[in-house]
Amino acid sequence: MNFRDKIAIIEGFPKEGISFKDITPLIGDGEAFKTLIDEMAAKLRGQGVDYIAGPEARGFIFGVPLAYALGVGFIPIRKKGKLPQETVTITYDLEYGQDTLEVHKNAFPKGARVALVDDLLATGGTISACAKLIELAGGEVVSVDFIIELTELHGRDKLDGYKVESLITYD
Ligand code: 5GP
Repeated sequence: MNFRDKIAIIEGFPKEGISFKDITPLIGDGEAFKTLIDEMAAKLRGQGVDYIAGPEARGFIFGVPLAYALGVGFIPIRKKGKLPQETVTITYDLEYGQDTLEVHKNAFPKGARVALVDDLLATGGTISACAKLIELAGGEVVSVDFIIELTELHGRDKLDGYKVESLITYD
């Protein structure tokens, strides 16, 4: 299936100069969404993945059905102050300012094999912070999977040493 046709390009969102890749037509199409999750699950099956983890909010949209398809648990990575139990925390730099992400300290046993999932790889700041967070919590990041990769931003450079996959690329 051609998933690229299901991505809407919205120029100037959320601000001028940005060409936003909108995944809502893809997830709004039941057949396309199911095929996509099934394809991602097929790639991860047999890799000994114990958990899927993903950052809010769009990492949840893809990560949760993927975890369900694989029959493994899902670990939410959230913005500061949203998780109710004791957390491990990481602060990372954005284009302007900083952001903080958290995961529950007891979310998984030490040494668990975790696959990270998000909708889109841009500069790689978000997902490399997620990878460090999983490692700080004692997990091993065995795979990093995206629907979309913006190749000219070279986010992969921040993920050196990890197995990185994306289904759709834009230059
Ligand atoms: P990065 O940290 O790699 O620079 O940015 C990736 C994060 O920003 C992801 O969590 C993603 O959801 C969000 N993001 C940035 N640009 C876009 C975009 O054009 N479309 C979508 N769907 N998400 C984006």
